Amino acid sequence: MSIKAVIFDLDGTLLDTLGDLASAVNTAMRRHGFPLLDEDDVCGRVGNGVRRLIEQSVPAGTPRADIDACLAEFQAAYDEHLVERTHPYQGIPAVIEAFHRRGVRMAVLSNKYQAAAVRLIEHYFPGQMAVTFGERPGVPRKPDPTSTHEIMDALGVQPGEILYIGDSDVDMRTARAAGATAVGALWGFRDKDSLLAAGAEHIVERPEDLIQLLDRLQLDAAMQAFEQNGFTWTFCATAAQAADYIAGQCAGKTVGFGGSMTIDRLGVYEMLQGKADLHWHWKGDSEITSGDVFLTSANAVSAMGETVNIDGRGNRIAASVYGFQSCYVVCGINKLAPDLPSAMRRAREIAGPMNAKRLNKRTPCAVDGKCHDCHSPERICRAMTILMAPPMGMQHYEIVLVGEELGY
Ligand code: SF4
Repeated sequence: MSIKAVIFDLDGTLLDTLGDLASAVNTAMRRHGFPLLDEDDVCGRVGNGVRRLIEQSVPAGTPRADIDACLAEFQAAYDEHLVERTHPYQGIPAVIEAFHRRGVRMAVLSNKYQAAAVRLIEHYFPGQMAVTFGERPGVPRKPDPTSTHEIMDALGVQPGEILYIGDSDVDMRTARAAGATAVGALWGFRDKDSLLAAGAEHIVERPEDLIQLLDRLQLDAAMQAFEQNGFTWTFCATAAQAADYIAGQCAGKTVGFGGSMTIDRLGVYEMLQGKADLHWHWKGDSEITSGDVFLTSANAVSAMGETVNIDGRGNRIAASVYGFQSCYVVCGINKLAPDLPSAMRRAREIAGPMNAKRLNKRTPCAVDGKCHDCHSPERICRAMTILMAPPMGMQHYEIVLVGEELGY
């Protein structure tokens, strides 16, 4: 099953909030003449909501009225200084960007009160999270799975299609209670043993390990799905390995090329000089509509076994379905989307704008990087193919997935 969405915990997973939390706790403690806490003390008390944090921070036996007053003072101080020392963990912005490029939807679930959770996400990750839930009145806190189920419903995903990433035993128990895959993060507030004891199925030491984990899970699903759909599937760990492999398949043959940054980056055309009959309009050759091999990329491939391509002139997508004996579709791991809707979204919202910019088109997406479904005369998105199985008449259709980011 492919991974369609990711839920992140907030404190200790996306953001290091300890400095601002400790300052606000100590503002409340100071006003009541209670002993101050250092950040390590606060660290061990985060994760079960702010009331619990204050209850554990005041001296034993503090009357409820004083706890309530401390809580109000903490909250006022925290609201005022929410983003002073808080910062994303190193590597987290790159993870968010990589997940976005892969078409994986993202959400946040925190036991921090709702207003603070939303403000933090809007400040540090504007527009990146489909859903942000903090602690909300009338909704049980984590590890109760109610909010996780709400997020799954909002995103339209099943429990087996979601990774739940957090740094605490509470997160791991939340994930397991909801049926999501529990991923324990070691850069936050808890240690490996407590995460494993609470049910972590995967442990990641650094944020960038999350990208590798997602890619590994997605690759397994994609290989099965493409083979089931009748495609040949090859995985090459590096671009250099992919170039050698493709060049070996094309030697001695008549080869047509579709316009593709990925194929260009591999240098296959140059490797095949004098060894094959090459036809690439990007290199000044005549264009052919039939031959032995057509080499192209796709704007996205789905882990459910489909390819998605958008074209302006139509030459690339036409040759990828008709006229050649065989076709090789070479894609970087960044183009592997969880399912067909996310692959189509990737083609329209990521590949389209990046290609329009590369080609200096006078389209709105070339200016702001977003698809406006424009009616521009220079619109590059005019036809889309979704390939669900190899076209009849082609003898060989192969997907070559490369374990590096390539092309758009
Ligand atoms: S439809 Fe227009 S705005 Fe959208 S990606 Fe294509 S060219 Fe850009």
